Amino acid sequence: MSGLRAPQPRTKADPEAGRRRVGSHTPASGGLAKAALPYADAAASEVVQVYVSNSRGWALPAGDPAQDTLFRDGCAERSLPAFIHASLLVNLGSPTPATVERSTQTLAHALRRGRAIGAEAVVFHAGSAVDAGHAETAMRQVREALLPLLDEAAAVDGPMLLVEPSAGGGRSLASRVERLGPYLDAVDRHPMMGVCFDTCHAWAAGHDLAVEGGMTATLDALVAAVGADRLKLVHANDSKDLCGSTRDRHENIGKGTIGEPAFAELMRHPATAGVPVLVETPTERHVGHAADIATLKRLHP
Ligand SMILES: [Zn+2]
Repeated sequence: MSGLRAPQPRTKADPEAGRRRVGSHTPASGGLAKAALPYADAAASEVVQVYVSNSRGWALPAGDPAQDTLFRDGCAERSLPAFIHASLLVNLGSPTPATVERSTQTLAHALRRGRAIGAEAVVFHAGSAVDAGHAETAMRQVREALLPLLDEAAAVDGPMLLVEPSAGGGRSLASRVERLGPYLDAVDRHPMMGVCFDTCHAWAAGHDLAVEGGMTATLDALVAAVGADRLKLVHANDSKDLCGSTRDRHENIGKGTIGEPAFAELMRHPATAGVPVLVETPTERHVGHAADIATLKRLHP
């Protein structure tokens, strides 16, 4: 880890600024406020993430203005930052033009919905070129799709877009954290572009987080690639699979192959100071999430 840039100290006067809020992905079907807020309360979430369209579909629902207002006000009352996860089908690097078009529309929709519900950012997967010969074109597609969305987001003061590296395989555009550097370069390091770090994806992509110092070194490498202030969200997920498997099967914190000590390093690393941390782990109703949230809070320095 020598030779990597140290994260810049945060300068916010707010004493809460360094606190890592801990929460979970939150179901929102049946009414955004009606479903998500009681769930967040039951799980003792300090941050929520929701889908605003089917996670495995392209339909773009308009949303219910009454529920939007209740959700926004409910989050404000609880000081609960909200994030949107875009549909898992989004792939800006696809060799199929219709998929790129739908992906762009889906992100535009999520940003509009994000403004309506007061979300901080929209998370999307980095995507893949699918075919070996398509890699360079894929990065051009990323640039062409994202720049107008990022400019629009800047003009209306958010939400931001956060790229999440994938688990690897299928000619991923970014799975190793080092690849976030070129990804951000593709959008000229736009100020509205941030990063979401998923521990299970990084592990699947070959970062050995389980070895002592492994999580720290991976976060150091992320900061070296993107700078100190780009990390805006962490998906803390343990894994059911081996390091480098490129498989993305989440496990509860401390119950999987990554193990609890790595998450203690995560909660102590200066790059995560003030950054919300949420789980996307297996759960029966809110129970699994509540346990994982309690574990992460306990690991908090
Ligand atoms: Zn994730």
